[in-house]
Amino acid sequence: MRRGRNAKIVATLGPASASSEMIADLYRAGADAFRLNFSHGTHDDHRATYGHIRALEKDTGAPIAVLADLQGPKLRVGKFKGGAVTLARGQKFRLDLDRAQGDKTRTPLPHKEVFQALEPGMRVLLDDGRIRLKIIKSGADFAETEVVTGGRLSDHKGVNVPDAVLPLKALTAKDRRDLAFAADLGADWLALSFVQRPDDIAEARKLSGGHVAIMAKIEKPAAVERFDEILELADGVMVARGDLGVEMLPEEVPGVQKRIVRAARQAGKPVVVATQMLESMIGAPEPTRAEASDVATAVYDGGDAVMLSAESAVGDYPREAVAMMDRIIREVERDPLHRQFLDANYTAPEATAPDAISAAASQVARTVDAAAIVTYSKSGATALRAARERPDVPVVALIPNLAVARRLSLVWGLHCVRGEDARDFDEMVAHATRAVFFGGFGTAGQRVVITAGVPFGTPGATNLLHIAWLGDLQDHRKTPRDTTPPRAKSPD
Ligand code: PGA
Ligand code: MN
Repeated sequence: MRRGRNAKIVATLGPASASSEMIADLYRAGADAFRLNFSHGTHDDHRATYGHIRALEKDTGAPIAVLADLQGPKLRVGKFKGGAVTLARGQKFRLDLDRAQGDKTRTPLPHKEVFQALEPGMRVLLDDGRIRLKIIKSGADFAETEVVTGGRLSDHKGVNVPDAVLPLKALTAKDRRDLAFAADLGADWLALSFVQRPDDIAEARKLSGGHVAIMAKIEKPAAVERFDEILELADGVMVARGDLGVEMLPEEVPGVQKRIVRAARQAGKPVVVATQMLESMIGAPEPTRAEASDVATAVYDGGDAVMLSAESAVGDYPREAVAMMDRIIREVERDPLHRQFLDANYTAPEATAPDAISAAASQVARTVDAAAIVTYSKSGATALRAARERPDVPVVALIPNLAVARRLSLVWGLHCVRGEDARDFDEMVAHATRAVFFGGFGTAGQRVVITAGVPFGTPGATNLLHIAWLGDLQDHRKTPRDTTPPRAKSPD
């Protein structure tokens, strides 16, 4: 299906949307990629959902990215006598390793490694930051704190320690099981939660056997600090604003988001903006104006994809939420200001042949008002470089490998088509023009800009740029072997 937009939509699947009918509905409404959230659901649930996605993919013929999101080392308090306690501002509250149920004076925090990293003055946030503590004293197995903001605290609520770099493995035992399961299943992306250091990415890559792309979720101050190194090692990043807004101050999130989006764009790696985008649509058919503006901002900034979490996983209006994102993206991309913003944030290509060709293709496409750029990309690398240019025509990426095509389907502006590699120049033109014509990207008489590598079929060899003409239906039906390229002799 030709979407007619550049920014992509990732929809999280859950109880509200895991049926094959609903997944198909979400796809038709505009979802380009689906997220399986391993913080919830069983392996059987995820396997069934995955099967529905692949069945849909078979029906539509368009590659779809599946993102397996691992829970990561999320800290939680233990249980309380009676299920909950209420903490008052100014009182003392102790965190320790004692397994006995907690009360008004203390709670179990069953994460031994954490205590070594705590120091007086550090903040401890409970229940998504609703309750705030300050550490007064700490030891190997306890931390004495003072309650800064009180409230009701119940069993197993989340704990954030934003000021510390925790000596926690990025992957818990559960994450390792989920990772192996997701890789086996055929997930295209692994999203890593609470990444703190570049090593975390390397570890996940090793465990995944190198076949799954790794997306680093930026949701810790430590990850923001070392963002450049993390970006270097990851295949993509997510601005995970839910936890980021707890670990940092809410007012710091917008600036961090802008810096991450810009850096990822410069690097040519996909960036997903996530969480609370259309939050009120969990329970209402229309978003707030502020939410519409938030989605639009991510698109004006040139992010690759915007994401729905609870809105599509457990909300009452999953279809409406996807359709709303689709409409917002289209509206932004019609706005001439959008192009101005993209161009204003343009960064020069690197001194490589694929970058030089991709930059030239984008410029040539604009100059000759081409219908599309077609890029032959075996490893997917050149397609990413083409998207990095943020060209103002669609990029049809001809990718022989299905796994690569799926992975890149959440990248800005890319329309991934599984295409045979060309064996010679005529075939290169014929395949490219056909993909554009039958994909509905252009009509007879329009021009197409093609990039490829010679010798044909060599990965990483992009070194050729060609302008071709789109022929009519008759031309495109001929096999390349019995014709010259369609309308190759058009006046030019
Ligand atoms: P989560 O990650 O939904 O897995 O918590 C996203 C976020 O924190 O924003
Ligand atoms: Mn998170």
